[in-house]
Amino acid sequence: MTAQLIDGIALSKQLRTGIAQRAAVLQAQGTQPGLAVLLVGDNPASQVYVRNKVKACHENGLHSLLEQHPASLSEAALLSRIAALNNDPTIHGILVQLPLPAHMDAHRVIEAISPAKDVDGFHVASAGALMTGTPGFWPCTPYGCMKMLESIGCNLRGKHAVVIGRSNIVGKPMALMLLAQSATVSICHSATPDLAAITRQADVVVAAVGKVNLLTADMVKPGAVVIDVGMNRNAQGKLCGDVDFAGVSQVAGWITPVPGGVGPMTITMLLMNTLQACEQASGQPAAA
Ligand code: NAD
Repeated sequence: MTAQLIDGIALSKQLRTGIAQRAAVLQAQGTQPGLAVLLVGDNPASQVYVRNKVKACHENGLHSLLEQHPASLSEAALLSRIAALNNDPTIHGILVQLPLPAHMDAHRVIEAISPAKDVDGFHVASAGALMTGTPGFWPCTPYGCMKMLESIGCNLRGKHAVVIGRSNIVGKPMALMLLAQSATVSICHSATPDLAAITRQADVVVAAVGKVNLLTADMVKPGAVVIDVGMNRNAQGKLCGDVDFAGVSQVAGWITPVPGGVGPMTITMLLMNTLQACEQASGQPAAA
């Protein structure tokens, strides 16, 4: 079998067209959706990520405020910037790029963001909303994975979905989203003794670990849907995921590539969350 590709660039393009249209409606009514991006320090990867997020805002009719602070910024000063942005009516989403410098408590910083503007979906209130199935912002990466599954018409009801990785930003929320769609969900992690025995049962596998070639063809059931969240560099320095794409694509039914898979979807869902935050602030009914 040769798997069909789930193209994150094409799906993003389609979703971003809809986002830009909805942003134009809001702007015509006098409110342009706005995202504040706070970067502390000079981590090169973080600088690339924030640049891509800001660029995507501008290309799709959202405005963005990029604040770059030195690594020496005090936590108190950062909290005071967040407080100001919480009260700024032109800003609908606030994103603090992680990781933060070691002298800051990332949890305390994220908790300072108003849940109404928590477009990364990392606040405890957002996590609680996801857990209880009440309205709130979903973390962008697993939200993007769900959109990819939806795009191929994957009905998760009764399917066995296996999530590899249990982080707060990908693995755990991914498992909750799959569960909410009535999948039977297994969460595997670094202490799982026989990963392959579990992944071989999966109709859907989401790999979110950060290890090159973690998932190989012998670990995948023929026809399974494979979503690769991983972002790694291989020995040649090339960007790659957690999945041995060449091998697994011979077995799986559907597969996401890296690059061009989950990565662009993550930014697209950030735009979506910011748009929804703006619509909610403007008193508009929630759209799908
Ligand atoms: P993390 O380091 O917080 O979590 C990794 C998880 O993998 C842990 O829960 C750990 O238990 C598990 N793990 C480690 N070794 C394992 C093994 N041998 N078998 C099974 N599980 C194992 O990472 P994260 O923040 O969740 O990110 C995971 C990957 O996804 C990274 O490569 C990251 O760069 C990538 N990522 C990509 C995007 C995107 O937009 N494409 C967004 C976020 C994260």
